[in-house]
This record gives sequence, structure tokens and C-alpha cells, in this order.
Amino acid sequence: MPKRVYFFGGGKAEGQGTQKELLGGKGAGLAEMTSIGLPVPAGFTLTIDTCAEYYDNKKRYPKDLDKEVRQHIAKLEKVTGKKLGDPKDPLLVSVRSGAARSMPGMMETILNLGLNDVAVEGMAKKFGDARFAYDSYRRFIQMYSTTAMGLSKEPMEEMLHAIKHKLHISDDKDIPAESLKQLCSDFKAFYKQKKGEDFPQDPIVQLWGAIGAVFNCWEADKAITYRRVEKLEFLKGTAVNIQQMCFGNKNDRSGTGVCFTRDPNTGENVFYGDWLINAQGEDVVAGIRTPMKLSELAIKYPGANKQLYQVRAILEKHYKEMQDLEFTVEDEKLYMLQCRTGKRSPAATFTIAADMVKEKLISKEQAISRIAPEDIERLFYPVIDMKIKKADLEKVKLTTGINAVPGSAFGEVVFNAADAEELAKAGKPVILVRKETSPEDVGGMHAAQGILTQTGGKTSHAAVVARGWGKCCIVGCETLNINYEKQEFSVGSKIVKKGEFLTLDGSEGIVYLGKLDLVKPELPEAYYTIMKWCDGIRTLKVRTNADTPYDSANAIKMGAEGIGLCRTEHMFFDTEERRQAIQEMIVADTIEARKSALAKLLPFQREDFYGIFKAMAGFPVTIRLVDPPLHEFVPHEEKQQRALADKIGVPYEKIRHRIEQLHESNPMLGHRGCRLCITYPEILEMQVRAIIEAAVQCKKEKIKVFPEIMHPLVLDLKEFKFLEERTRKVAKEVMDAAGVKVEYLVGTMIEVPRAALLADQIAQAAEFFSFGTNDLTQMTMALSRDDAGRFLPDYVDQKKAAIFKDDPFQSLDQEGVGKLIKIGIQGGRSTNPKLKIGICGEHGGEAKSVKFCHRVGMDYVSCSPYRVPIARLAAAQAVIEGAASNGKHGAVKKASKRKGKKK
Ligand code: PEP
Ligand code: MG
Repeated sequence: MPKRVYFFGGGKAEGQGTQKELLGGKGAGLAEMTSIGLPVPAGFTLTIDTCAEYYDNKKRYPKDLDKEVRQHIAKLEKVTGKKLGDPKDPLLVSVRSGAARSMPGMMETILNLGLNDVAVEGMAKKFGDARFAYDSYRRFIQMYSTTAMGLSKEPMEEMLHAIKHKLHISDDKDIPAESLKQLCSDFKAFYKQKKGEDFPQDPIVQLWGAIGAVFNCWEADKAITYRRVEKLEFLKGTAVNIQQMCFGNKNDRSGTGVCFTRDPNTGENVFYGDWLINAQGEDVVAGIRTPMKLSELAIKYPGANKQLYQVRAILEKHYKEMQDLEFTVEDEKLYMLQCRTGKRSPAATFTIAADMVKEKLISKEQAISRIAPEDIERLFYPVIDMKIKKADLEKVKLTTGINAVPGSAFGEVVFNAADAEELAKAGKPVILVRKETSPEDVGGMHAAQGILTQTGGKTSHAAVVARGWGKCCIVGCETLNINYEKQEFSVGSKIVKKGEFLTLDGSEGIVYLGKLDLVKPELPEAYYTIMKWCDGIRTLKVRTNADTPYDSANAIKMGAEGIGLCRTEHMFFDTEERRQAIQEMIVADTIEARKSALAKLLPFQREDFYGIFKAMAGFPVTIRLVDPPLHEFVPHEEKQQRALADKIGVPYEKIRHRIEQLHESNPMLGHRGCRLCITYPEILEMQVRAIIEAAVQCKKEKIKVFPEIMHPLVLDLKEFKFLEERTRKVAKEVMDAAGVKVEYLVGTMIEVPRAALLADQIAQAAEFFSFGTNDLTQMTMALSRDDAGRFLPDYVDQKKAAIFKDDPFQSLDQEGVGKLIKIGIQGGRSTNPKLKIGICGEHGGEAKSVKFCHRVGMDYVSCSPYRVPIARLAAAQAVIEGAASNGKHGAVKKASKRKGKKK
């Protein structure tokens, strides 16, 4: 029989911090904190596997679980010296969920369990405080009724509000004992009316109700949506943590709080958090009351504050990671209720990792491993354009709230998650406006560009969830007066209706009316530090796919070390003049006419290549000769065809006929790629001439150049040789005429399966290979790049067919296409050991694929400029992971030494 329950308390724990997959994040944290001597109330954890068993067993508890739970209750009673249901001094417990990954606000909690009509009186006497005892009881009845028994939250909340209204008080903590007692009776009567039975008085019955509630919340809609959005569908279930209560709602010398050991927005090494006096459990995170800053704790309760600072230092040293803590202060004594790795903004991820290296808490390798590709992507989120004048901003400033997550966003106002999702699907940006933070809204929050709430603090649910996504969020905006029915809100006399635009500045917490211009943000210093470390570790070079001097210069800023793919056909689309020249070339029916049209294209291409070479300053530049089928360049409407005929002085009929001739049923497998230059070698001659003439010009100006001329869609050695010989002939002619020698390479893309299979032959003549994995995926899997989107989602949907884990056009199919790549590399290097090998398909900027490219021994990856940093990171992580899996300490250093050798 598996062990299903793990005890912690009295300084000892059966579990440990590494057992997150078994005990959940919370359970593992509690066990670990107990073991290292922190003040943690005793308790026990039902494992995640038990929850999985419960579901496997059609929602029935495993046999013997009852016995194991009873044994642990007995142990808990022994450690605490209190008894569950004791009429004089009852043991009260909290029952809380805890999955292996943090799912903030998604699951349920029940506090003060063990109270009943008798025990509440005993508690009142024992503490000499009836208000406190009845406040605890009313909270328990509320939580139990709604969470475990499925009653709706509103009626009881309304009863609570009604009492406060009657007494003219606004704060829960000011409700007197008698009123709370009355409220408990009203709640129980309501319960009986709805459930047809009395509110359970037996603590064991209560306990099983609560355990069932926690297990069942795993399958609640909001939890399922959260797991889908966060790609956590692999999780098996939730643990249940049953723990002795401590009471933040006991008096004004008690309270509860949530904090981060460092600022989760900026990453700054400051203690950061919210807390509330005389409050319990979810009060802070639920955002019902606007909390106080942590610094106020130091003033009010220096003792508890000192203890908290000590805990912060101990936990950071222990975990070597920024922690998210939950604590309760009871009579000025601190109790820890949770610690886990804290969610943080992307900028904070970099800052914290770099700082921890400086503080010698972690190594550079650990810092690099902590960065996710998404953190880099999200660093490039926009902010309000600084060029907008302050005075102009003031004019549209509506109100302010708490700056929970930085970055800016604009969008149409919506008031519920469903509308947010619907409008986002239609491609519209939306701002989700809600009264309070609501886990049910997670789908809408994800769909929205920004989130604005009336209540809540920096650690409220909305803030935590939005931060994890790097999504602009303002909370605690108390001036908002929201009317869900009318779908509008007001701030003073100003009314904003659904569909109107708002701009949020999440960094400052300011709400603006209308749509303001946004620009990309500044990167934190730590970004550059960590990327530099990545560059020192990785062995894979990172190039970019760029077709213009502008993109090339931008890519250099992103850290590119050359161009891995310049798609020359993109240069033909730029201006009307260029479009016309290529069209003239295509419709030409004699070689002379074609050559004359090509002569017009030559200067454009030469100028572009010169600009790119200059921007790349000696880095290798792979230029691919024209690839798409010619019909893509010509007009298909009669009106445009006639205009073309007029412009180039050819009869319309001739143009129409030529365009009809070019039509193909399956152009992807048609007259494209190098096949064009087999038919029309004069195209190759013009392009090679333009490349080498531009290179010669650079050399004359003492600009370093290193062109690599690449032929697309090659499938055969003979075919490649035909092209290679002509390439070299033209290059030689140009160099001889100029009297300048340019170093260059001639190579091929490997994007046809046959080329991968015959790579050993092709490499006899080719100096480099570049895997074109877009086409290689298309042809290997017989999935059209253009049409597969219609059905591919079903293949990837883990709830439907689950045939692929990822879209193979986004993340390389390592098993299938990857096998061809391995064959290609092995074959190529068998006949040409010096063969340079890279990848230039979209996969070159996707982290998992980049790691694969490293493992199979490529020399470089190439991707779009904004993905260059992701590739740099992934390439470094690949080295670190490789060293770890080989178990070789110091392997990372050796790998980086090797780097210098390869050009
Ligand atoms: C490829 O096929 O992977 C490639 C880079 O070429 P293109 O996307 O231009 O077909
Ligand atoms: Mg291709």
C-alpha cells in the first residue's frame, strides 16, 4: 500500500522540499520549512497520487485512506496538545489545496475547520474573546458551505454586508460578537434551507467534506482553463494540506500577509508584500480589502517584523531562489504558512538571477537555466511613448490604482471574461475591467491586453497571474464605480462604456482614456549581463534571417553573428520599379529580352547586398538565390496584367498567355528553388554577379565581407554541380575583371528529403548545408505549409487526437524530420569533414529545436532578429544540459574553450 499521508510538525517532517510532484508545492514547502526549524504550525499532507487515485476510482477515496487520516489526526492532536471537537479547547485546522505547480487562486481553502456550536463557545471562553470565536465560526460556515457544499457565495456575503450596513460600519473586524453570533445562526438557517439538513457539527464529517472539496476543485472549470492556458495539463492532481490553525483574525495584534523575498516586478533586492491587521487567510490575496505595505509591519509589530526578515534570509539562502511567502501573525508571533518559488516579471527574472550570481548564491549556469524563452519575448513589451507630452497625458488621465504589473496596453473595455475572449478572437485588443480579482476570469485575463480591477493589492490573484504572463495590470483602483448590468464604469462624473478605449500604464498604475501610442521598453541591465554569459558558454553560433540592411543592423543589436538566410526574392517586392523589372524578366520570351530585364534588376540587388555586407561587417552572410515559383511575382487580375503590358510594351494577350503557362497545380513541388536557375541560368548569373560585385566594392572600401552563396531546394549532386560550376565561373569573371579576390563559399539548403538521404554525395561539392526545415517538414510529413493549419490543431490538441506534442512547423519534429537531419549531417561530414552546417527554417528560433541543433552537432542556427536572443539562450542551456546529463563537472568550461577553434 502506498504511503498517502505525510506528517510535519514538532521540528520534523516526513516529506521534503524536493517532493513537489508528490506533496504539491505547498506541502513540500511546509515540510521543508518545518525541517529547517522555521515556525510552521503542525499538520499533514494527503499526496497528489491520492487525488489521482480518487479520480481513477470514480471519485471514491482509496480504501484505508480513512485509517491513515485518523492516525495522522491522532498524531496532530498529540503534537499540538489539542483535540478535534474538544468542547473546551478545540483543535482547529485549515484544509488547503496544493498542486505541483503554483495555480494562484485557482483552488479552494477552508479555514477554522473543527468549529461547531459547542466548540465555538469553548473557544470564546478559552480566549476570553467571543467576537474572535464567532468571527472564526462564521468564516468557517461561509467557506464550508460554498466550497465543500456548493452553495453560492453571494447570499452569505450579502447577509454580512447587511449587518455592517445596519451597524454603520465598513470593516469586518468592527462587527461585534453578538452580531457575529447572530450571523452564524442566520448562515446555518440558510444552509438548512438550501441543503435540507443541519450544518455538520461533527469535525470528522467536516474534514471529509473539506478533503472532497479540495479534490473536486481540481476539475473546476477555472482550474481546467488555467491549466490549459499555462500548459499544465500534465499535472495529475492536487495534494490536500491539513494544518493546525493560527489566527490572524484574533485581535489587532494579529494579522496575515503575503510577501516576496525580492520585488517581483523589478527584481530589486527589497522585501516586498502586503498584509492586513486582524484578518485571515485569503483576505489579502482575494483583494477584498486593500492591504497595507510590508514596511508598516516594522512600525506596528517590530518583533514579528524581525522574525519575518530572519525567515526571508534563511529561506533565500536555503532555496537560492526568490520566495513567495504566506504568513500569519498571532499575538505578534510569526507563523509561516507557505513558501514557494515566486512568480515574477520577465525583467525581474533576469535581475534576480544576475544578482544571485553576484551574491554567490547560484552559479552563472544556474542563472542561465532559470531563464525561459518566454521571459525574453516578454521583455520586449511596450510602454507609453515618451514623446507624448506630460500635459497631453494629464488631459486624458482618468484615475490611478496600484501598479501591479509593468508594461502598457490599450484596448476596448469589457467587463467579463467571455467578452474578452470573444473580442480577442476577432483580433481586437481588450482591457478587462473587474471589481475584484477573480480566478474564474482566467481565460479572459489571458485573452486581454491588460487587466484593471477596483480592489486588491500587488499580490492579489489578478496581479500574480498577470505577472506570470508579463501582462499589464492595475489593481486596487478604488475610484472605479463599476456597473456590470449597464456594462459601464464611472470615475467621478466621467462614464466609460463597454467598447470604449482605455490605455493602462501598469508601471505607474495610471489609467488613461483612449488609445495612446506605445513603444518597446528598455531592457534591464541584467539582460545584457546574462546574455553575455550565454555567449561565453554556447558553442552554437546564432545568425539571423534578414533581407534588408535595416533588419541586418537590428539583428546585430540583438546579438546575431551573421546572416543565415537572405531571401533574395524579398528584394524584388520593395518598390514598383523592382516589381516591374522582375515581371519583365518573367514574361520575357527570348534569352535576350530576359537578360535585358535582369540587367535592370542587377543594380538593385547589388545595392542591397552591399548594405547588408556593410551592416554585417565581416560576419558570414548566406544569400539564397531566388526560390519561389515565378508565377508568384506576376499579376493575376486582368486589370493589372493590362497595366503591365502597357508599361513594358508587350501585347496583353502575350502577357496573359505567359501567366497561364506559369500556372501549376502544386507549385510547392513545382518549378521553384534551384530548378528555376537550371532552366534559366541567366538568373543565377545576375544574382551571383550582384553578390560578388557588392563584395568587391566592400573589399575596395576595406569592409570585411564573407558571402556564402546558397542554392535552394537541391535534390541531387549533379543538379548542385550544374549550379556550383556556373556560380564559380561568374564569381571568377567578376573578381578577375576587378582584380580583387573575395573569399566566398557555395553551398545548398537541405530541404528535400532526397537531399538529406544523399547528403554524402552532395557534400562532395557543397561547402555548407543549411537545413530548410520549413520545407523539409512539409515534404517529410506531407503536410502543406499553407493548408495544414486547417486540421493540424486537432493533431496537437492534447484533449483530442494528441498525435503531436507541438505543431511541427513551430517546434521541430525531432523524431522524424530530426532523423533525416541526423542522416544529412552524418552523410555530409562523411565526405566533407569541413562541411559547415546550420539551420534556417523557423525552428532556428525555437528553444527546443535549437537545443536539438546543438545536440546533433550543427555549427549555427539562424532565425528572425527578435528571436536571436532566444536562440542564444537556448544554445547556452543546451551546453549546460549536455554537461549535466553527461554528469561531467566542468564540461561547460571545456565546451566553451572548444568554441574558439571553429570559424
Ligand atoms: C525552409 O524551407 O525552411 C526555408 C528556410 O525556406 P523558405 O521558408 O523560404 O521556403
Ligand atoms: Mg524552403
